[in-house]
Amino acid sequence: MDTAYQNFFREIKKGNKNQGYPKFKSKKDNKHSYRTQCNYFKNKVPSIEIKENKIKLPKLKWVKFKKSQEIKGIIKNVTISKVPSGKYFALILCEVSESQKINKSLNNIGIDLGIKDFVITSDGEIIKNPKYYHKYEKKLIKFQKQLDRKQKCSKNRNKQRIKVAKIHEKITNTKTDFLQKLSSQLINENQVICLEDLQVSNMLKNHNLAKAISEVSWYKFTTMLKYKAQWYGREIVIIDRYFPSSKLCNICGWKYHDLSLNIRKWICPECKTNHNRDINAAINILKEGLRLLNYNT
Ligand SMILES: [Zn+2]
Repeated sequence: MDTAYQNFFREIKKGNKNQGYPKFKSKKDNKHSYRTQCNYFKNKVPSIEIKENKIKLPKLKWVKFKKSQEIKGIIKNVTISKVPSGKYFALILCEVSESQKINKSLNNIGIDLGIKDFVITSDGEIIKNPKYYHKYEKKLIKFQKQLDRKQKCSKNRNKQRIKVAKIHEKITNTKTDFLQKLSSQLINENQVICLEDLQVSNMLKNHNLAKAISEVSWYKFTTMLKYKAQWYGREIVIIDRYFPSSKLCNICGWKYHDLSLNIRKWICPECKTNHNRDINAAINILKEGLRLLNYNT
């Protein structure tokens, strides 16, 4: 509250007439969260502690909770949040001193991101999009329709709102889990990972729903790869989005100028190689990435 008032008066002093008077936090808002610092006073127990399935929080004392992973290092702060389905989460920020770097890998990989298949690698591996979405999508549409028919502000409407929120949560969780596992695996197995740059700025203007959904996942996935590479001492090379990864023959370099989107397989007229469009693109991405890496070092 003090910060809110200080900001308010500072802006008024500056002559900002649009500065609104501090408001109470909205309870209708779907986002409920607060952050609490862990204090380490001399000769006193820290204000936040964790013991097996319990967490001690300031004001709340010991609360039962379920760990998603082992908590290592010194606890700096905890963010408690309530998601729309009514569950509470604790996000624990810790300081870890030990180096997490893993042994150097001899493998390098190029990755092409797709819509039908999520990832195509230069090793020829095709990783499909998980099927969860379709399964939950139908349910979501049904529940959403039921929600729209419920009377505003009624108890039943709130019950239905939680049902819808739970499905959204399920979709997000399974998606994140898939992306986390895949990014960890790629980081584990490869020293250098080459990817294409994404046109994220155009993401919201996209009218193709399947593409829009994929792009959100690609963005998340790239972010995960980047921070994990930093943790474990790997390298990520981003290729210019105008690099013609699909059009070049990865064997002889011949360029297929008018390659259209519906052509999934083609034969190079120069060297007679049979190409799978996406795998060829992934190999070119790897080659270009390694070229850039050598150029820069
Ligand atoms: Zn060729």
